[in-house]
Order: sequence, then structure tokens, then C-alpha cells
Amino acid sequence: MSPGARYRRTVAAPEIAETLEKVVAQLPGGGEVRDGQRVMAEAVADAIESGRHLVVQAGTGTGKTLAYLVPAVVTGARVVVATATKALQDQLAGKDLPFLDAHVGGFSWAILKGRSNYVCRQRVAELLDDRQGRLDVANDDPGLTAVLEWANETEIGDRAELALEPRAAVWDAVSVGSDECPGASKCPMGETCFAEGARRRAAEADVIVVNTHLYGTHVAAGGVVLPPHDLVVLDEAHRVEEVVSSTSGSELTSGRISAAAYAVGRVIADDALVTDILAISARIADVLDDLVGQRLDPPPARLVDQLTQLRTKLDAASAALKGVPESNVDVVARRNRASQQLLGLSEAILRASVVPTGSVAWVEGRPGSAKLRIAPIDVAGLLEELLWRETTAVLCSATIPPKLPTRLGLPKGNTTEINVGSPFDYEANAVLYCATHLPDPRQERADAVHDEIAALIEAAGGRTMALFTSWKAMQAAVEALRPRLDTPVLAQGEQPKPALLSAFTDEPAASLFATMSFWEGVDVPGPSLSCVIIDKLPFARPDDPLLEARREQVGRRAFELIDLPRASTLLAQGAGRLIRTAEDTGVVAVLDPRLATAGYRWDLIRGLPPMRRTKDRAEVLALLGELR
Ligand code: SF4
Repeated sequence: MSPGARYRRTVAAPEIAETLEKVVAQLPGGGEVRDGQRVMAEAVADAIESGRHLVVQAGTGTGKTLAYLVPAVVTGARVVVATATKALQDQLAGKDLPFLDAHVGGFSWAILKGRSNYVCRQRVAELLDDRQGRLDVANDDPGLTAVLEWANETEIGDRAELALEPRAAVWDAVSVGSDECPGASKCPMGETCFAEGARRRAAEADVIVVNTHLYGTHVAAGGVVLPPHDLVVLDEAHRVEEVVSSTSGSELTSGRISAAAYAVGRVIADDALVTDILAISARIADVLDDLVGQRLDPPPARLVDQLTQLRTKLDAASAALKGVPESNVDVVARRNRASQQLLGLSEAILRASVVPTGSVAWVEGRPGSAKLRIAPIDVAGLLEELLWRETTAVLCSATIPPKLPTRLGLPKGNTTEINVGSPFDYEANAVLYCATHLPDPRQERADAVHDEIAALIEAAGGRTMALFTSWKAMQAAVEALRPRLDTPVLAQGEQPKPALLSAFTDEPAASLFATMSFWEGVDVPGPSLSCVIIDKLPFARPDDPLLEARREQVGRRAFELIDLPRASTLLAQGAGRLIRTAEDTGVVAVLDPRLATAGYRWDLIRGLPPMRRTKDRAEVLALLGELR
């Protein structure tokens, strides 16, 4: 039990099953507990009582949310639920927790987000002061006026309450990141701060919902961000390695350096120093633009040279900030925030100049918005030391990647792994079709792929989600097929994601073409989606810097330990878009013959739901016609 965590009540398996039954019976339409859901709930209760970690694969339709919430509530454990998607967080906050509260009760819950999601009272106070003195013309932005009016009335201060999403620059002007906030004790608004209020509510709650990113920050910070808890549920556990890798690393952008320069400029009257920092920031942007896509092993001299010059200037800025007279509370607050920003920036510069052992540095993004990232190659040791020893964990997902417990460093002797399957009848309701007649994706084959997509969409009468492994392949398909098809083609990037998904759901004749961000977390039940097309097996690019470093670390078994589990999980996630309810039927079409021929094919097929398999194109086209 972690220090400060709470007393837990021992419960027998029948009590869990009984409560689950009672709760599920209240679901709209009077649901029934499914076997997999009961097995998972009892396993979660066992994890709470024994302190053994649990890794559970719970296929679509299991009802995994109630399967972890019911035992947490019945045993009285304090639990943190970390979700990887906003959709799941909204579902917990808007549906599952209020429902459980109404039918079981006896517990409290809270949502906690990262600091930059809450409006910062201190920044708002400073902006209003500036406005009165007309110091900053940009403060007359109408979007900013609306946000300031809302900030004056809100009780929670969560950006999600805003009816209209503010522009990034507007939100940046009224919020702070955790790297900028000096902490409540050093802030004049600390007592009424919204982010601090959310933390206080979380500290009193029995169930705390956070996103995986915030939980990763909590782990990387040595467990000080969140209140002590008995259990953490890491939902969408297949994303944990990627998220922890990101939160325990650091990032450096020219934008971050410029933001720190402006923060300093608002406090000290040394224009030359601020101008110098901005000039170095621009030079670093140029160097990073040239390095996009490259691993920095070691960082090139021209980058280290600029970083060294920057450190000298930041040291001068820190010294100047210390000398600022404490004339009023706002000046002190601005100074504290600027100092905090410089501190975080100096740490990132240090890591970028001399990349720590066991980490990898690379530049990602596009020229103009390049980002230098440093991340640990392997998160197992970090998680072992900072998480698994401290807190019991339940890791669940519809697709648990092969070898996940090993990659995450879960202790072998203290981890239980189960697969509770899915209640859906995949064999009867879904067909996995591999287009073996198509050329191998390593050859030029765009025309053949477009012909195949057109044939499938025409047979299905639209109702298709085509998932691509690259933006370029998606755009080529949209361009080639839109004029050719009689049914509408919707494409990622042409509308915001929620609008695109509702247009697709509302118009069964439509097809939706999209890339990786639609492979998971997209839920379109019903007849609007009868065919999922996957253009090729989702193997990572061989030159992805982080994966390249991981491959080097494991040596000859890299394909088996790194590439195959990753592709298997993504493929299962993509295919998983098809069957969302017991009534859904359809076809998953994989336009990559390697799924039927490669030596590793069974590793991929075993990771997919148990669909009936075929290579018979005519049979699949006829079946799609029947489903219309
Ligand atoms: S403590 Fe102060 S600076 Fe930090 S978020 Fe709260 S109001 Fe803003």
C-alpha cells in the first residue's frame, strides 16, 4: 500500500458479482452481466486486496469501465483512473460515474486535468490591469474578451466549459503550463486558483479521473502530482509506453525559448538581453528545421554551440530577475513565473546538449514547427522503480500488445495476466478479407489499391472507413476516387474530427478516408460502417528515431520485440472499428498480401478478433452487397 493510501474493505467475489449484476440491470434496456465483465471485476477486486498487478485484455463490448469501477467502489479503495482518450474521460465523467453514483452511491469522484486546462487567475488579473492602462493593444481581441468574461463567472475554470474553442494564442494568454506556474504558495492568486481547487477536490475524492499524460507526469515527478491512492487503472494500456516515454523526457522548441524571452521582457527593462535571446531562438529554429526527422547521436556542434550561447543569456536573465525590486504583487508574480520558465528551459537545454545515457534525442515535426525531443529508450526501469513498487496497477485494453508486461517492467512474480475475450460473435458477424492478388506494398501499386477500394465501396454502397498508414496515401486515394465514385467521400483534415464522424454516421452512403488518428478511439456503431479497409500493415518507418534506438537496444530480436507487437496492436485497433455492438456485421479488408503470406502472419492474425477469414474477392463483394 502506498504511503497515505487508505484502508480497504475485504470483499468476497459473490459480493462483487452481486453489485455488478444490480448495476448492470439498471442500464438502459436492462442489461445483463457478461461473463468476461464478471471475471474482470473479480480479478480487479483480487488485485486491490492482494496488491498483485493485473493486465487484462477486455475485448470490445466487455463493459470494462464498470468492471473496474464496481470493485473499486465496493472495496472502498481510492482509485485513479487514467484514460488515454478524451472520449473515454468524457464517458466516465458524463455517464459511467454519475450512473454508478445513482445506483451504488457511497463514493465521491473528481476529474483532474493538467494545469494548462484551467484559466489562470493571476494571468487574468495582470491582463485586466494592462487593459486598464491600455498597455497592450492585442488585449482588445474579441476572443480574449469572451474568455475574460467567462473567467469572471466560472466556478471551475476548466477550458472545456467554453462554448467556443478559443484560439491557441488567446488561451496561452490566460493560462500557464506546469513549467511556468511557480506554485500556489508563491502566487498572489494561489488561494483561489482554479487548478489548485481541482487538485483539492481530487485529494478528497474516492475516484479520480485523469488522462494518462497527467499520470505519466505524476510518475516522472516521483509521485507528487496526485494524491496517494490504492490502485491505478491504466485504461487503453497499449499507449502507456509511448505516454510515459514522452512525459519522462523533455522537449525544446524555438517557441518555448521565445515564450521565456517574452516572459523575461515583461519583468526586466533589458531590451538588448531579450533581443539576444530571441535571435538565438531564431537561429535554433533554423538548425532544427535542417534536422527534422534525424536522430541526434550526438547533437551536432552547430546546435550545441547555439544552446551554449543560450544558456549564458538565460543565466544573465535569471540573475536580472533576482534583482527586480518587489514593487507590487503582480510584478513579483510575473517574476516568479519567468524564473520558473527559465529553470525548466535550462534543464531541457542541458539534456539536449549532453543527451543522458539511456535516452535518445531527435527532431520531429515540420520545418517551421520543428521540435527537439529527448526521451528514455526504455521505460521499464523507471516504471519499476517509480510506479510498480509503489502502487497496485490494473492495465486494461481491448488489445494488449504481446510482451507488454516485459516492456513495461512489470514484476513477473507479482503480475496476473488474463484475457476475458469479447461477448461479440465475430465468427458469425465479421469477415477478415486479405486481398492477396494485390502487389506487395513495397512495389508501386497505387492504381491497383485504388481499384480495390473502389470495388469494395461500390459493393458496400458507401458505409466504408478506409484507414491509411500515411497522409500521402490517403490524399492520393481521395484524389483518385472522389471523381470516380457515385457516393460521397469524406476525408480527414477537411472538417474537425467530431464533425467528420457525425457526417459519416448520419450518411450511410458516405465513406470516410483517414489516417492513424482514426485507427483507435473511433466508435461508429450501426449500418453506417460495414467495411473497414486497411491499406497496408502498419509497420513503423525503419528510421523512426525512438524505435531505431529501441531496436538497437534489443539487437537481433528487434522485429519480434519492437516492430511486430506495435504493428499487431495497431492492426487490431484499426480492425476493431468494425464491430462496436452485438448487432454490427461487416468486412475488414486488408489490402496487404503479407497478411496471408509472411512468416509472421500468425502473430498478427492471433492479435485480431476471431473473424472468419477469406481471400475470395467475389465472396466479399457479394457479402457487402447483401449487407446494404
Ligand atoms: S497558482 Fe497562480 S500562477 Fe499558478 S495557475 Fe494558479 S493562479 Fe496561475
